[in-house]
Amino acid sequence: MNLRCVGMLLLTILLSWNAGQLATAQAPASAPAQPPRVRKLVLVAGKPSHPPRMHEFNAGVQLLHKCLANVPGLESEYVLNGWPEDDSIFDNADGIVFYMDGGARHEVVAPGRKEKIDKLVRQGVGIGCMHYAVEVVPEQAGAEFKRWIGGHYEHMFSCNPIWEPHFAMFPDHPIAQGVEPFTIQDEWYFNMRFIGDIPGNVSARVEDIDFTPILVAVPSDDVRDGPYVYPKGPYPHIVANAGRAEAMMWAVERPDGGRGFGFTGGHFHDNWANDQFRKIVLNALVWVTGADVPAQGVQSTLAPGDIDANLDPKPPRR
Ligand SMILES: [Zn+2]
Repeated sequence: MNLRCVGMLLLTILLSWNAGQLATAQAPASAPAQPPRVRKLVLVAGKPSHPPRMHEFNAGVQLLHKCLANVPGLESEYVLNGWPEDDSIFDNADGIVFYMDGGARHEVVAPGRKEKIDKLVRQGVGIGCMHYAVEVVPEQAGAEFKRWIGGHYEHMFSCNPIWEPHFAMFPDHPIAQGVEPFTIQDEWYFNMRFIGDIPGNVSARVEDIDFTPILVAVPSDDVRDGPYVYPKGPYPHIVANAGRAEAMMWAVERPDGGRGFGFTGGHFHDNWANDQFRKIVLNALVWVTGADVPAQGVQSTLAPGDIDANLDPKPPRR
């Protein structure tokens, strides 16, 4: 092979390599779109603490997990009876939702745990807190809860009456997709300590966090007058806001790219049998991971016996 032939050969190789590159570069345009990554949700149920059919965190979490089984793009796992023994279950989660007792003994606030969750939040992991899990002692984790989920229950500032709000209108938000107006009695806490001290009943942008109220209703004057579950109240600042709409569920989108939500209902286990009540929470569980909520919301049907499954054992009689 003379020099000219070698040159031609090199040119041919070069041209065919270029053609290959072009073909490679153009390939994605004609390739089918990649399905979205499967998101991982971890549901954490708290320990038993109340009489039967109240604060049934273990049964509630298993019921919700079952209802999420067929949601495309989502896999859910759950942990029972409090913080997991091996918390590496959180390490590749896209969303973590706590349905447990809170206040001064909030399990997420214990040494080492708050820091772990805070690190995950800064990586964009979604966080949800349901019922008592929305309450923390401000000095212990108030700042974190405002940054993680937009607010928290504060003792003597928030209140916890048992009442029956009518949720008539919903925002244009994925969590509300397919949800019809509903009325249901629960221990619906309100007057949360929200980020920036906003009232929480309208959308707002505070400290680069986009806040959207999801479940909003106006408590009657009787509800504001109490009694609350504990302490019985009434608190003058709650009474003074007569006529004001209050948020019992809200959602945030954080600057770290993660999402958060708070839901103050969930005291009575039997409420999970209500299709709208269940759907709006199921939607939130999907949304908080970054997955798409189905257009008509998460469809689920309870089979006979589902609501009675996995209830905590009755405490021994004394
Ligand atoms: Zn309760």
